[in-house]
Amino acid sequence: MTDVQVQKSFASQDNGSSGRKAGILYLVGTPIGNLDDMTYRAVAVLKEVSWVAAEDTRQTRKLLNRFEISARLLSYHEHNKEKSGSSIISKLQDGESVALVSDAGLPAISDPGVDLVEEAVRMNIPVVPIPGPNAALSALIASGLPTERFTFLGFLPREKKKASAVLEEWKTHQATIVLYEAPHRLLPTMRLLLDSWGDRRVVMARELTKRFEEFTRGTVASCLLHLEGTPPIGEYCLIVEGAQASASDEAAPEWWTGLTPEQHVARYEKEHGLSRKDAIKQAASDRNVPKRIIYNEVNKKTSFEANSTKQDRD
Ligand code: SAM
Repeated sequence: MTDVQVQKSFASQDNGSSGRKAGILYLVGTPIGNLDDMTYRAVAVLKEVSWVAAEDTRQTRKLLNRFEISARLLSYHEHNKEKSGSSIISKLQDGESVALVSDAGLPAISDPGVDLVEEAVRMNIPVVPIPGPNAALSALIASGLPTERFTFLGFLPREKKKASAVLEEWKTHQATIVLYEAPHRLLPTMRLLLDSWGDRRVVMARELTKRFEEFTRGTVASCLLHLEGTPPIGEYCLIVEGAQASASDEAAPEWWTGLTPEQHVARYEKEHGLSRKDAIKQAASDRNVPKRIIYNEVNKKTSFEANSTKQDRD
């Protein structure tokens, strides 16, 4: 008796319980912007499967039309994943094949596909990846930051406290960190990165593979200043430098580590009797960031949860 499960993707399989051949769950990568990134194999698989399960069927229909694929679509997304997931599993157990696609990129990366894959594996249904574009890896390889070791953290939690806790957990991690972020949350997330991890190198990779593809490389503080004149529009990946070995292993934390810029300035005002201006100057010097960054932090009126670009920038 062995407790390993061996899947031979291209040999016939049965589902173990009924003896019938199980269908295959294909995970099909689709373009993240540029339709020319569609692969021949993706088109062939989407043409041949019994069903295509899509996050947004209208969006996927457009993609299928573009490649003259007349597949039967069914919807599988965050809000119907349990019901739709069990219907997909039944189809697979009945021998039908299903291709799962996400709105863009690789299914099961920061989308509900991961639950379907888990269930398919549990039910001994073969799961076959059809590789394609992915925003995180495309951003990483062009970032200029180390790629030998990297960690994908996906989207940070929306709640500031929870997001801070995640950043605290990975603070001394030396691998390059890859994050996804929505444009209206880019500024609060960058501020939080500065507060939690200090002024590391970062690359903001925007609109990958699209007409306005752009890489902004700098430090978190310099990118924040840059964003003051350029409101974030479009889709973004953030590639953040890992902790320095010295920072994580040897350096004693500064007294202000863990304080927000506002708290840092307030301590100089209250405990050292500095004026607001001098306290800002001193805090900026401690953190090795431009004064304007601290000034903006101290004077900002918005919350992390602000949900529009305008709010973020007021
Ligand atoms: N499954 C997708 C993948 O493989 O890349 C990711 C889906 S996730 C729901 C969407 C996030 O991916 C966006 O908020 C953004 O952070 C990132 N993203 C997707 N397309 C992008 C693009 N063209 N340029 C930059 N980031 C992108």
